[in-house]
Amino acid sequence: MLRTQKLGEADRIITLLTRGNGRVRAVAKGVRRTTSRFGSRLEPFTHVDLQLAEGRSLDVVTQAETLTPYASKIGSDYERYTAGTVMLETAERLVTEEKEPALQQFLLLIGALRAMSSAGRSPSQVLDSFLLRSLSVAGYAPSFDDCARCGAPGPHRAFSPAAGGMLCGGCRMPGSASPAPETVALLGALLAGDRALVEASGPRHRKEANGLVAAYLAWHLERGLKSLSHVER
Ligand SMILES: [Zn+2]
Repeated sequence: MLRTQKLGEADRIITLLTRGNGRVRAVAKGVRRTTSRFGSRLEPFTHVDLQLAEGRSLDVVTQAETLTPYASKIGSDYERYTAGTVMLETAERLVTEEKEPALQQFLLLIGALRAMSSAGRSPSQVLDSFLLRSLSVAGYAPSFDDCARCGAPGPHRAFSPAAGGMLCGGCRMPGSASPAPETVALLGALLAGDRALVEASGPRHRKEANGLVAAYLAWHLERGLKSLSHVER
């Protein structure tokens, strides 16, 4: 479940990322009534097994079973909730076509929701790793090693969201950032999902990586995500 919107007196339109059919919108009838059989199951962050029937314009939910209620763990912690909201909004934005299969995005999101609801994981590290990997699946893979322009082998010193990552001395653009080498290594680890390296990183480099990931995401989504401004960095 990515998002829900009110519809009429008692219904909701729900937006889902599905295993087989990508992003789907459907109508859930009567779910805002207290007597609804499955109203509480159709909340953001919840992994549900749904039965849909074809409707006139949108599909209609006929059955809903909760598989994993990530909402209960994520929703009870402000930092996890805000970071998780950015993940849902990013997934919705990056899966651009409705009903176009997006299995990799689905699996990434489920993995990230599981990590986000586990107490031992840092919410901002889970978020940054998800954002870089989700952007990569969508075709915006950053380069944190070789030069994003000419391919010269790294490590390099300049970072430019517009150029797609790190730039060598010859390709460096005005306005590029110059992150610490440890931050560049951390970004590579976040992208690769290398937890040992990520967890060994220090707060200063995490904070710098947070800022660069946010800049990279904002550039590729053309405008900043609404929810990103609520994440404490
Ligand atoms: Zn270059």
